[in-house]
Amino acid sequence: MNKHINRAVLRMSDIYAPTLKEDPSDADIVSAKLLARAGMIRKEAAGLYTFLPLGLRVIHKIENIVREEMDTHGGQEVLMPFVQPAELWQRSGRWNAYGAEMLRVIDRHDNEFCLGPTHEEVITDLVSNELRSYKDLPKNLYQIQVKFRDERRPRFALLRGREFMMKDAYSFNADQESLDETYDLMRDAYINMCDRMGLKYRIVQADPGQIGGNATEEFMALAETGEAELVYCDCGYAADIEVGECHPQPTQYAADALTKVETPGVHTIAELAAFLNCEESATAKAFSGKGEDGSVWVLFVPGDYEVNECKADRLVPGFTPLTDDDMAKIGLPKGSMGPVGLPEGVKVAADESLRGIERWVVGANEDGFHYVGAKHGEDFQVDAWEDLCTVHEGDACPHCGLPLKAARGIEVGQIFKLGDKYSKAMNATFMDEDGSEKPFMMGCYGVGVSRTMAAAVEQSHDDFGIVWPAGIAPAHVCVIPLSAKPDEVTEAAEKLAGELSAAGYEVVLDDRNERAGVKFADNDLIGWPVQVVVGKRGLAEGTVEVKNRATGEKVSVALDAVEAAVD
Ligand code: ATP
Ligand code: MG
Ligand code: MG
Ligand code: MG
Repeated sequence: MNKHINRAVLRMSDIYAPTLKEDPSDADIVSAKLLARAGMIRKEAAGLYTFLPLGLRVIHKIENIVREEMDTHGGQEVLMPFVQPAELWQRSGRWNAYGAEMLRVIDRHDNEFCLGPTHEEVITDLVSNELRSYKDLPKNLYQIQVKFRDERRPRFALLRGREFMMKDAYSFNADQESLDETYDLMRDAYINMCDRMGLKYRIVQADPGQIGGNATEEFMALAETGEAELVYCDCGYAADIEVGECHPQPTQYAADALTKVETPGVHTIAELAAFLNCEESATAKAFSGKGEDGSVWVLFVPGDYEVNECKADRLVPGFTPLTDDDMAKIGLPKGSMGPVGLPEGVKVAADESLRGIERWVVGANEDGFHYVGAKHGEDFQVDAWEDLCTVHEGDACPHCGLPLKAARGIEVGQIFKLGDKYSKAMNATFMDEDGSEKPFMMGCYGVGVSRTMAAAVEQSHDDFGIVWPAGIAPAHVCVIPLSAKPDEVTEAAEKLAGELSAAGYEVVLDDRNERAGVKFADNDLIGWPVQVVVGKRGLAEGTVEVKNRATGEKVSVALDAVEAAVD
């Protein structure tokens, strides 16, 4: 029979899916190992991956779910350039603030660009000349596109790549009420996406971080290997560990600590604010370390800044973070990043990007002094730093008082109410009903498409390989003839595959000239939800074996009942 008689059936003999017996030596997490071994991805360089045909099929499944949910919740798809002019980022004030994650390039005419890490600037610029009236609002535009972030530590393959796929959406609303409505719609869309993709997840309160704004939640796929730490309560409350309501704050304690700082003029919180000369900011961190002359410093740096980058050298030459032992020697508590009860002689330095911020609060938690931060436009209040603090396992739940439990998660999506941060900075306004010009209220909503693929594998695998959730599997069912040469077994398998395909299933036929053991191992590794095994003995009785990959359960099924059994 012509091997391609039924073109809808995928054939293992055709598919470019080179499976591997061994884990790649640099694969550092189970999804990295299994996706490589199953012939779905290949590493090109740190944080850069090729998607092979089966891997790309999964990506397309995820994209389609995302697309359908966006389209049915008010989104409209666009596609923006990946390369973005520096000028846009200079206007929003983020060209300098974004830091080393942004890869900057220069064209032949000496113009500066970056490889898009996110698209708030481009989209705000786009609509600012075209959405003119309140009558045009709200609008919610999204794209599915490659992003580039020069992550300090690309690792865990698709979980933290440098080039990765994201769905990013941006909404433009006339007022807070309308923004709240769009946000709730997106929240519903995200719940549907996660459910359809078969993820186990929690929605957690999160820290606005680099993007800015005031209300945000993350969708966390639960996994022991996740980089994010969460606390949650059975009453429904859940938070990223770096946010959430926290303990009564020893404000004066932090101020006392600073009185011991020997930087000229910095003895109080107000003086620290003056020293930093600040206006608004996301959370910042404090790090303790030594300069090359042995002097002890505390660095105030943006939330995403890591001290072991050479950047720290710009602030304090030769800066090396203090070890726990060093800290003990100078009287700082173990694990503390900042100046708790600072000994004499400790100096303060702040990253350039934190200057220009007016109002600062200095926060401390139980362990000591972890954060400085700022409130946006509002009055400077001591309790403002409630949301800058860390919550811990065992803390009382702010909603019901029960002790919080800890879990780890992979951030697969995040939704934000940005407010007017970008529209104000970029002067993007519309004419409201009363004739006045107002900045848009904005929201932004991201999903890590490629990260989600890996998160699904982290959650769903066993000793034999991947167990794809049905919603995103590269195909639903694999028909495996236990015979290689053309005979009645291959013929029956071919026929069955054609029938299942005609019935609407995505079908793979393992038509390779391989031993049964090789076929079983590869198909378990790849992880189709269902396998249909066609053998001589069964055929003689008019049956085949249907195996559920997730449970391992095998049932013998009559040939005319296979369709119902693979569902
Ligand atoms: P993280 O906290 O893990 O660094 P993020 O908060 O910086 O992620 P966002 O700016 O919220 O990420 O981007 C939207 C989504 O893009 C994230 O929720 C995540 O799923 C995905 N994403 C972000 N960074 C990466 C990356 N380096 N590799 C793969 N996916 C990523
Ligand atoms: Mg990040
Ligand atoms: Mg994050
Ligand atoms: Mg995020």
